[in-house]
Amino acid sequence: MTSTPLRLAVPNKGRLAEPAIELLANAGLEFELSERRLSATVRNADIELLFVRTEDIAEYVADGLVELGLTGADLVAEHGGQLRTVLPLGFGACSLVLAVPRDRPSESVADLAGCRIATSFPRVTAAYLEEVGLNAQVVEVRGAVEVTPQLGVADAVVDLVASGSTLRMNGLRPIATLLVSEAVLVARDGATEADDRVGPLVDMLRSVLDARGREYMMMNAPAGALERIRALIPGLSGPTVMPLADPAFIAVHSVVERSQLWRIVPALKDAGARDILIVPIEKVVR
Ligand code: AMP
Repeated sequence: MTSTPLRLAVPNKGRLAEPAIELLANAGLEFELSERRLSATVRNADIELLFVRTEDIAEYVADGLVELGLTGADLVAEHGGQLRTVLPLGFGACSLVLAVPRDRPSESVADLAGCRIATSFPRVTAAYLEEVGLNAQVVEVRGAVEVTPQLGVADAVVDLVASGSTLRMNGLRPIATLLVSEAVLVARDGATEADDRVGPLVDMLRSVLDARGREYMMMNAPAGALERIRALIPGLSGPTVMPLADPAFIAVHSVVERSQLWRIVPALKDAGARDILIVPIEKVVR
């Protein structure tokens, strides 16, 4: 075991900050958030959290200032460094899209030849233009990208969207998707593969992510209904089956996808299951 703490850079504000803190806390890390939120020492693990701007995190990891960073996959792509995604984190979902003013007749990317495209993702945009063989000018802007066509600064934009409502509000419509993004845990390529401090953290984070969207189901049923019940709730490694005091009955426990409950519950009742309990799962450690 190495004695220096594992340094993890976490967004200090913005969209990813609160879900990041929540994920770390749910994974069982105990830390105090100070008012200024610069850093926090994890009490029950050898980990130091450093709170920095989301857009600086890829750079911190690439420079080796921290071993791990939690940031958006879009920002990792834009950084372009030798970074490795250790774990996709399932929140902060968005896409980087090419969008044009709604009333512009362009139907395809090729119609934008010679145009100005405003973006805060100049590298990803330039790589995309090269890939599709489009000759256009990339105008780098630092925010409020979606208003640049109205200001006459650009003819099109490459911008992040989640619901698409900001684009629509600004009279833009997407015509291509450059990448889809979510929050990720990243490391410098080649730097943490042998680091024995990383595995346990990744396992705990993954256990929280694996539990999301799942529930634990318990029910009583006639012993003869087992095969039908089993087909409905195979669980992670097959359902747990236990005898009840009355030998004609069994208890069956299983993990199920929350999204499937509406379909499974009536079928289980049909099969003879009763006293069905559904409880939340905090972590699934594999
Ligand atoms: P921030 O600007 O600090 O709020 O964080 C921006 C990051 O949040 C982006 O780089 C994305 O990874 C992520 N994100 C998720 N949804 C959106 C969205 N609708 N617009 C912009 N960024 C988003």
